[in-house]
Amino acid sequence: MLRFAGAVLTVFLTALLPGANAQEGKPLPHADERYKADIMVVVAHPDDEAAVTPYLVRALDEHRRIAVVFGTRGSSGSNEAGAEQAAALGDVREIEARSALETLGINNVWFLSGKDTATQDVLVSLGNWDHGETLEQMVRLVRLTRPEVILTFLPGTFIGEDHGDHQASGVLATEAFDLAGNPAVFPEQVASPMKRLEPFLENLRPWQVKKIYYFPDADRQDIFRGRGPSYAVKDVSRLSNKPYWRMALDAFRAHQTQAKSYLDKIAQMDEAQIEKMATSEDGWGEDQHFVLGKSLVGGSVTGDIFEGITPGAIPYARQETAPEPARPDLSVELGGPWSFYAEFRRAHGLTNLPHPEPPEIALEGPGTLVVPLRIRNQTAKAQEVTLSATLPAGWTAENGTGKFTVAAKQTSAARVEVNLPAPADKPEKKAEPQEVTVRAEANGQIIGEVKLRVELRKRALPQ
Ligand SMILES: [Zn+2]
Repeated sequence: MLRFAGAVLTVFLTALLPGANAQEGKPLPHADERYKADIMVVVAHPDDEAAVTPYLVRALDEHRRIAVVFGTRGSSGSNEAGAEQAAALGDVREIEARSALETLGINNVWFLSGKDTATQDVLVSLGNWDHGETLEQMVRLVRLTRPEVILTFLPGTFIGEDHGDHQASGVLATEAFDLAGNPAVFPEQVASPMKRLEPFLENLRPWQVKKIYYFPDADRQDIFRGRGPSYAVKDVSRLSNKPYWRMALDAFRAHQTQAKSYLDKIAQMDEAQIEKMATSEDGWGEDQHFVLGKSLVGGSVTGDIFEGITPGAIPYARQETAPEPARPDLSVELGGPWSFYAEFRRAHGLTNLPHPEPPEIALEGPGTLVVPLRIRNQTAKAQEVTLSATLPAGWTAENGTGKFTVAAKQTSAARVEVNLPAPADKPEKKAEPQEVTVRAEANGQIIGEVKLRVELRKRALPQ
């Protein structure tokens, strides 16, 4: 009897113990480890990867897994290797970029559906890239490759190549950094299928990247120094016994459509000549510098890129927006990409990101400089505002100066257009940027001034 009671008790307890009789839970299928990356590089065009390949070779020495994302296939520009143009050229350049990276052993390579945009204006590039669609692609690739760190172009406008597409790749990478860990963003990407062979839900997991670093597309580098780690590129790779810069140059040889004449010249040289040319003139031998955008895992500003990073996922970090700056009731500021970037830095926790002050741009002369302005009137009555420009000798204000009225509680857009002369034919020294000042006055008082430093060039991308 006692033995029977014991048996009953066992049955009773078994029924109470949760899950004791339940089916065994099936673990979720694992993500595909072949695509797990430590570093994700996000650039715009085939050949842009060369901006960081000398560092990537070092990272490969340290057994880092690398993924590279290109914003476009590089379908504009001239073709130095063949007749193919436009979309056909883009197809060729995709293969060139894959071959270049394959040379280094990197095949985790992806392309967004952005289109080449010949402008310095990031907003035009983002428009031409179908910003929403390419951001969705970017977030998907972060969730798929689960990088620890993103390296990308610094989003900002500078005197330099200042390509709007380069800037757009940095904008998308930053947005994806802040969004990919949020399960409410593009939820169809992280939804698990409820039916077998569900064709629309992607079964990815949210992924929070731990750090983001930038490399600037600017001529003047002083404001970026000391804002992140630097790496020598003349060190010798354990993998190949060649210096890092030399492996990067070897990889670059795939870019025939963009650089055949340069590559042919190198092919004629012996090793000593290549070293002399590449490390003195071409910048291949220059140290690589990065700017720390943000870290969610601590580490010092100039410490190694992987300082503070330990394996495994970290929780999603919701980005707080910095408060709007206080403005007087009547104010003027630069509009266009400049006001976008001010908002962007506030929205993404990047208010410490270096940017030139006053803002700067290089433009082709003869040509036109457009100074976009936003004039805010928070007073209760309409205000008459007078715009005037102080310009370098030989530069003239064509449009946009003079008086106009801004209604009460309104923000007005205005633009001052400046005629730019041709740059000096044979300048005695390198042309210095010139300062353009637009002044806004109301009620006999200056309400604000906007300054831009403008360098005149024979050739530059359109503003
Ligand atoms: Zn480029």
